[in-house]
Amino acid sequence: MSTYLFPPPAVAAVPVRGQSELFPVNRLFFVGRNYHAHAVEMGKPVDKTVERPFYFTKAPQTLALSGSTTPYPSETSNYHFEMELVLAVGKAGFRVKAEDAQDIIYGYACGLDMTRRDLQLVARDKGRPWDLGKDVEHSSVCSEIVPMPGVVMERGAIELAVNGETKQKSDVDKLIWNIREIIADLSLFYHLQPGDLIYTGTPEGVGAVLPGDRITGRVEGVGEIALTVGPKA
Ligand code: MN
Repeated sequence: MSTYLFPPPAVAAVPVRGQSELFPVNRLFFVGRNYHAHAVEMGKPVDKTVERPFYFTKAPQTLALSGSTTPYPSETSNYHFEMELVLAVGKAGFRVKAEDAQDIIYGYACGLDMTRRDLQLVARDKGRPWDLGKDVEHSSVCSEIVPMPGVVMERGAIELAVNGETKQKSDVDKLIWNIREIIADLSLFYHLQPGDLIYTGTPEGVGAVLPGDRITGRVEGVGEIALTVGPKA
């Protein structure tokens, strides 16, 4: 039997509502610019008739659970929140047709795609990878997963507040590429696997936080999420 030189990293995992077993996380996918008003605020409006969705990934090691306190990351002075609906994949799927998308859905969660915005924009404008801006330690915040097998969410308020003050307020019905379209398109490129989480994009109103700030968010029909920003790393 093989052994390891040192203990292998723990499997990233998320609690599941109503169950004792954890949801083991395989990959973290993120849809870029998937609400028109957010695309506009980023200076990159989307014309769905001529564009396709795009994605970036983060390592599962960046996962942080709702309710935690995570350090304000190094090498940024513009750390941003992005409130997102997270889709949890429960079955394998490759080249999934939009009309069959429900077959691979396990459930949903609330997510925060925390971002070094200053570094992301430098990378974007220089044509460099987004990793230093996006693949930030502790930046993929996830609530408990709510089992909703086969349910294709088409609407639901999505909101975020910082220290009780509302910053983001929209509805999942404003997704440019909806749940069915995301699954169909992403599964052209990847063999989706049980344990994959897909962060579906953020609405408008993104902004910076500072050490000590308390972020709270909710998606109607799914649940709530909270994060406290700790001292600088
Ligand atoms: Mn995002």
